[in-house]
Amino acid sequence: MRRRQVLKAAAASALQALLPLPRPALAAARPPGVARVRPADPGWPSEARWNALGRDTGGRLVRVTSPLDVCRSGPGAEACRDVFSALKNPYYIGDHPGLTQTSGWLGAWTAQPSAYAVAARETADVVAAVNFARDNNLRLVIRGGGHSYLGASSAADSLLIWLRPMHEITLHDAFVAQGCADGQPPQAAVSIGAGVVWMAAYNAVTTQRGRYVQGGGCATVGAAGLVLGGGFGSYSKRYGTAAASLLEAEVVTADGATRIVNSCSHPGLFWALKGGGGGTFGVVTRLTLRTHDLPRVFGFVVMTIGASSDAAFARLVGRFVDFYAGSLHTPHWGEIVNVKPGNILDIQLSSQDLDQQQAEALWRPFLQWVGDAGADFAFSTAPTIRTIPAADRWDAAFIRARAPAAILSDDRPGAPADNVFWSANLGEAGHFIDNFESVWLPASLLEPHERGRLSEALVAAARFSTVELHFQKGLAGGAPDAIESVRNTCTNPAVVDAFALAIVASEGPPAFPGLRGHEPDYVQARRRADDVTRAMGELRKAAPNAGSYVAESSYFEREWQTAYWGRHYPRLLAIKRKYDPAGLFFVRHGVGSEAWDADGFRRI
Ligand SMILES: Cc1cc2nc3c(=O)[nH]c(=O)nc-3n(C[C@H](O)[C@H](O)[C@H](O)COP(=O)(O)OP(=O)(O)OC[C@H]3O[C@@H](n4cnc5c(N)ncnc54)[C@H](O)[C@@H]3O)c2cc1C
Repeated sequence: MRRRQVLKAAAASALQALLPLPRPALAAARPPGVARVRPADPGWPSEARWNALGRDTGGRLVRVTSPLDVCRSGPGAEACRDVFSALKNPYYIGDHPGLTQTSGWLGAWTAQPSAYAVAARETADVVAAVNFARDNNLRLVIRGGGHSYLGASSAADSLLIWLRPMHEITLHDAFVAQGCADGQPPQAAVSIGAGVVWMAAYNAVTTQRGRYVQGGGCATVGAAGLVLGGGFGSYSKRYGTAAASLLEAEVVTADGATRIVNSCSHPGLFWALKGGGGGTFGVVTRLTLRTHDLPRVFGFVVMTIGASSDAAFARLVGRFVDFYAGSLHTPHWGEIVNVKPGNILDIQLSSQDLDQQQAEALWRPFLQWVGDAGADFAFSTAPTIRTIPAADRWDAAFIRARAPAAILSDDRPGAPADNVFWSANLGEAGHFIDNFESVWLPASLLEPHERGRLSEALVAAARFSTVELHFQKGLAGGAPDAIESVRNTCTNPAVVDAFALAIVASEGPPAFPGLRGHEPDYVQARRRADDVTRAMGELRKAAPNAGSYVAESSYFEREWQTAYWGRHYPRLLAIKRKYDPAGLFFVRHGVGSEAWDADGFRRI
């Protein structure tokens, strides 16, 4: 094109961009089946149109850049080193629209900044962004806390709705969901903005107000992302999943409508939000969750036991399984036991509502048995059994004073003192995943005649990789009311028959394929990834066809519809089609995603 023609064309398209095109006209102009647009495509919105979105969102539209850009020009430069050390601070990552907590996954995905982001502060910003993405045929991404292992809140060439700035928290003494006044008694609750992370929620609910809300274990996971996936915390065997506590949500659906969703209004959509997966049914701008009376105490049991031979290790694991089945398979216990290569059993459990004497008495027989075995076993971390007042569980000042090694702080100048995270989660800040798989282990494996099979599978798996038994993520043995509440969610019903979620995973430090000097160590990563597969193969012998937790599962999960949601999948798909018939909201292995290619750009 000659210069004059270019100018004329540019002027025409700028003018066209400013005209308020009616939505139906735009939609009709797009033949069905056409791919979503990328920046190089002719259909990509003009500068003027982006500017209009910027105005509609009160100046909250930003072009997304990545802090890693400084590494492209100078991989060894100080500025790049600073970025990599900041990637070990999850608050730094969470506060940047160009970053996600996971840097990537071997052979699966790599974190990619979106083209633009709306840093939403108000529901109206979300409505404007949803309408813009739909009308301009864009790939839309929603991000809250940014902790998706599966890369579900990252896509190149997309428009990101970044919810981090929506961080209001309001407590209610007597909440009644809208339209439910006739059938629902008022109850204590908390309303949480879509950008809130769990540490902030616990601080507001427990530290400041002495109540309990069921959230997640990791302090910096987003509240909404966790609830939408199901959501387990240390005490889920007592209180159920976070999703089961949902009383109401404000949701912007694909048609741009803002809907108040609860058991009286849009009950199908409400059910789908309780574990149907984030980024799928709409943008949740606010959640209201039931709160509970605090138990008097929370407790911790920590120890690491090494066995001197394979035979001794098999006995140790067998004894622990017996002990768990007989004494710990109750609503009181949660968190993790690691069965590790090198014949190591690492116990990191939490309890609720058991005082110091009760907890010590429970553990005495097991500790006695280990002690009596003489040279067969040695503690590399001596047993600690400890209880604390429940109100101090998430109090940063209390933890700093009593157990400073348990937490790390947001070290940016001026960061709030409450911005803390568990030291145990440091490895996952910015991590690059080699492999990650999970299965729900059915409680039938705790029957006396099945325990041998379970122990053998655990020992065989641990020859290859660490098996993490997350007891709080299987609800068998839990409180009946907690189990009943989870039955009313769409999480795979296998969760209530499982005593634990077994996770086998491997990771390395932050790494980015294609970023010179900061690539993953592919040789090691592949070897460790294979070990995870072998270990999981051993576990699957004991639990064939077991389901898996959508938020903590393999990127390559086969039969993901059944693994995540079991018999609920057809109903979820019908709800997806009702509220998002054109598939505006896409995440890999999300409900309805089988209609799209791997990156969600083209209908298949
Ligand atoms: C270090 C770490 C620890 C974890 N610990 C736990 C744990 O203890 N218990 C547990 O159950 N899970 C845990 N998880 C898994 C976690 O619950 C999920 O990854 C969760 O989806 C993360 O939510 P997010 O908002 O932080 O992440 P994001 O990546 O922002 O979002 C996750 C998904 O939800 C969507 N989404 C987020 N917000 C919204 C919204 N407001 N509306 C609609 N869609 C939305 C995103 O599009 C994406 O698909 C952990 C994950 C990590 C990385």
